[in-house]
Amino acid sequence: MPILKNNMEEKKVRNIINGTVIDHIKPNCAMKVLSILKDIDQECLIVCINTDSKKYGRKDVIKIENKFLQENEYNELALISPEATISMIKDGKITSKEKVKTPTHIKGIGKCKNPRCITNCQDIETEFDVENGDKIILRCVYCESTNEYKN
Ligand SMILES: [Zn+2]
Repeated sequence: MPILKNNMEEKKVRNIINGTVIDHIKPNCAMKVLSILKDIDQECLIVCINTDSKKYGRKDVIKIENKFLQENEYNELALISPEATISMIKDGKITSKEKVKTPTHIKGIGKCKNPRCITNCQDIETEFDVENGDKIILRCVYCESTNEYKN
């Protein structure tokens, strides 16, 4: 039964032993999410784009061996895909699973659109208050410019 064997092989590949599963990513946003994750060049990555989702029709999924999200990565993921869920896997078991929460404040993510803002003139990390409505608005804490967050 070669088909059965292939299915089993595939299943083995799909499960990671230690690392993070990011599920329910907005369809076609997986590459954007990968672009914000650090230190994953050497890790085993499994990416599914436009796979079936019971809840949303379509979704992207990323699984990464030996990777646990840092605060900034978590915050940016929440901006890119507010419905995403993060599962941490240790020794083959899910140790935690949660939906991302939109941050109220971010540091070191994005760029202020005001060319005269101090963050664009000096070596200062950007910092924004996040207003979460129909659109996500980032208000610069230095010059108070409002910047719409766009994927
Ligand atoms: Zn600014």
